[in-house]
Amino acid sequence: MPDYHIHTPFCGHAGGEMEQYVARGRELGMPEMGFADHLPLFHIEDTTLAMCQADLPLYVEKVRELQAANPDFPVRMGIEADYVREHLDDVARALGSYRFDYVYGSVHFIGGWGFDQSRFKFEFERRDINEVYEIYFNLVMKAARTGLFDVMTHLDVVKKYGHRPTVDLSDLYHEVGRALAGSGVAIELNSSGLRRPVEEIYPGPNLLEIMRGHGVPITFGSDSHKPAQVGRDFDKLLSLARGAGYTDYVRFAGRERVPWPLPP
Ligand SMILES: [Zn+2]
Ligand SMILES: [Zn+2]
Repeated sequence: MPDYHIHTPFCGHAGGEMEQYVARGRELGMPEMGFADHLPLFHIEDTTLAMCQADLPLYVEKVRELQAANPDFPVRMGIEADYVREHLDDVARALGSYRFDYVYGSVHFIGGWGFDQSRFKFEFERRDINEVYEIYFNLVMKAARTGLFDVMTHLDVVKKYGHRPTVDLSDLYHEVGRALAGSGVAIELNSSGLRRPVEEIYPGPNLLEIMRGHGVPITFGSDSHKPAQVGRDFDKLLSLARGAGYTDYVRFAGRERVPWPLPP
């Protein structure tokens, strides 16, 4: 399957050259691949979290260069954009400036709390974990309904440091499934969770099965921040997808979704 979640040195926390990521994708025999680096953040100035505004055109230019250099291997131009309610106009403007193949939406902030950054994880101890999950997934639904994003990435990233809800959240997850299906948004099976303290793919099997029940399509991503991580644990992503009852996934070009059968 194509790896659609590849970062680049533009975001300030990934290593290697973009050519090396493409070379790794080719070496693995992927049918295509896609970059999805962090769109500039508009609510904070932090060049270790996302590319700065001036770098966005350079990122686009670099992806186009790689497309031209690999005529036999589609390199998709995706982007990962944060959902921050106060800055949707800025995000829409940035997304509208270029012809992206797909836009990944992510929720990395609850209010001003960057909950997936290890320097802020202490905050989990001060909060009610069930409430954190509820707030987080409500932001995911709001993000899906903006119409700005094609795919919600790392759907349950709130579990990153191993904090689990203590109550059954099935009702909430079904609500998420309806919201995503109703907004025409796909989700990503993201293997980076296996490299985090939680040691589990995003999303977990129960949540994924609920998504399948609502007909929410899937993509695949490693969330690579190093060339060697491209395609990492895709065998596990595939068996998770099959286990949840999926028989196909989607690819993107020019923000159009194309279904493909899962490989055998
Ligand atoms: Zn990143
Ligand atoms: Zn992310």
